[in-house]
Amino acid sequence: MVEGIGASPGIAMGKAFVIPAWEWDFPEKMIDVADLAYEFERLYDGIRCSKTEIEHIKTEIAALIGEEESTIFDAHLAILEDPIFMNEVQSIMQRQYKAAEVAVREAIDKFVGMFDLLDDQYMKDRALDIKDVGNRLLKHLLGKLEETALPLDQPYILVAKELSPSHMAHLDLSQALGLVTMLGGKTSHAAIMARAMGIPYVLGLEGKLQRPIQTGDYIIIDGEEGVVHINPDAKLVEEYRQRKQKWLQLREKLQELADVPATTTDGFTVQLEANISSVKELDQVILNGASGVGLFRTEFLYMDRDSLPKEEEQFEVYRQVAVRLGQKPVIIRTLDIGGDKNLDYISLPEEENPFLGYRAIRISLDRKDLFKTQLRAILRASHYGNVKIMYPMISSLIEVRQANQILEQAKNELENEQIPFNRNIEVGVMIEVPAAAIVADLLAQEVNFFSIGTNDLVQYVLAVDRMNESIAHLYDPYHPAVLRLLKHTVDAARRHRIPVSVCGEMAGDLRAVPIWLGLGITELSMSIQSILRIKNSILQSGQAESAGLMDELFACKTSEAIVEILNRHLRQEMLAKSCTGGEQHGT
Ligand code: PEP
Ligand code: MG
Repeated sequence: MVEGIGASPGIAMGKAFVIPAWEWDFPEKMIDVADLAYEFERLYDGIRCSKTEIEHIKTEIAALIGEEESTIFDAHLAILEDPIFMNEVQSIMQRQYKAAEVAVREAIDKFVGMFDLLDDQYMKDRALDIKDVGNRLLKHLLGKLEETALPLDQPYILVAKELSPSHMAHLDLSQALGLVTMLGGKTSHAAIMARAMGIPYVLGLEGKLQRPIQTGDYIIIDGEEGVVHINPDAKLVEEYRQRKQKWLQLREKLQELADVPATTTDGFTVQLEANISSVKELDQVILNGASGVGLFRTEFLYMDRDSLPKEEEQFEVYRQVAVRLGQKPVIIRTLDIGGDKNLDYISLPEEENPFLGYRAIRISLDRKDLFKTQLRAILRASHYGNVKIMYPMISSLIEVRQANQILEQAKNELENEQIPFNRNIEVGVMIEVPAAAIVADLLAQEVNFFSIGTNDLVQYVLAVDRMNESIAHLYDPYHPAVLRLLKHTVDAARRHRIPVSVCGEMAGDLRAVPIWLGLGITELSMSIQSILRIKNSILQSGQAESAGLMDELFACKTSEAIVEILNRHLRQEMLAKSCTGGEQHGT
């Protein structure tokens, strides 16, 4: 058993498909000058075979998945035709008399190293493409490894070094039973997307495997416990089969709660809303009985394309969400790129600390054109439903005022153009930067609502990069400092009579339920797949009891002590009386 980090719950069992990131082991072979021509012939042969193979895969993907997905392989073909890459290989051979495979490996290492150095996820992804193509070429030069067929016709567990948000957007994961990556964090956007899609995911296996997982290995992953079993014995397979069965049954039971309000045993109701990033998720939003969309991450609309989405296109998407949700609220968050989310067509500066850099509202206030287009689209959609606007990564009142000024301009423009919209649209802010939490009393006087983004708040308060798995143990939402900031924010909102919700991943963590109830939070927004489990827990909890727990929690000096108390109050698995007619238990 290998212990990683559970990033998306559920059990998956099946054969592994490893996105190739092979490390080759072969000697530094030199060649004779006389053999140079032959060596070049070998290289060109290898390139030809690799190209034919890529073309073949491309055609297969186009037929089985779709034209769009198959274009990924155009990039691979382009690398094999890239003069800079090829010149590097040829010059190593010509000047240093190294064998073709040695030259190819050196060229791959050089370019991958260059891309990897850039603190830019998009460039890191390109490094993965080069590695992939290079490895294919090496395979043809060395002729040693078996070709790994893409598992288009059968389900598999995808294993990769890492998955970026753009990977998740690109890859057709319809056959993926589960995901395993060596790198990544629980609140990385790949993890968030996996949860949204209901795909079990374990990450953070770097340095923990005795040998790399190989395509075809039978693996079991438990996304709840964060463990991976590689080639387990029959007894363990049977045990997990039963566990999986139970888990599926639990999910079925939970489904019965979809239309039940999330009300505690003493009558306190919480609105459970969904975090979404595309219209594709709307069916799931409805199916899981969400009482609204508490966070629409719009940046994914800007990803996976070559230019900014036009106002009309954005409007259409926002309108669809608004119409589908009817009178239920839809909180549309303005563009939050930077950090681990980049756009190919906007050159973001290279930064040492992208999470502390040119990000989110900072970009919007700098690129007013881009911001106003988005605001106009959101405003126009507000005519069709209960739409609200939310600004990400606010750190001062000045930023709110500047953003509101642009919003005002957008409103005036629409008015002049006689385009209908809701002039009284509510405007809120994410509380995800410690400064915003600290001055929550000031912000509360000028906005309509708060939504606490615990993913970023935790990383900034604790100075722990949410993407870095080597310090993942320090990323601690239950740190006393986080609890104090949460309470400080909620108190400020209450004093100024504005609603406050929580939309970070912590909102969907069962252990946190007593905290939300204890603080009197009436709105939580989370990954769609968490809604019914949290509801089940709320149905079994008492608000007064949770409020009573708060003193105990605030008296704790360590997060271990806090988690211990929360674990004692976990309400899960056993379904509420209203649903099963059975007994109510904590587990
Ligand atoms: C957060 O930071 O908690 C949040 C919800 O925003 P994101 O995860 O998109 O940064
Ligand atoms: Mg955030």
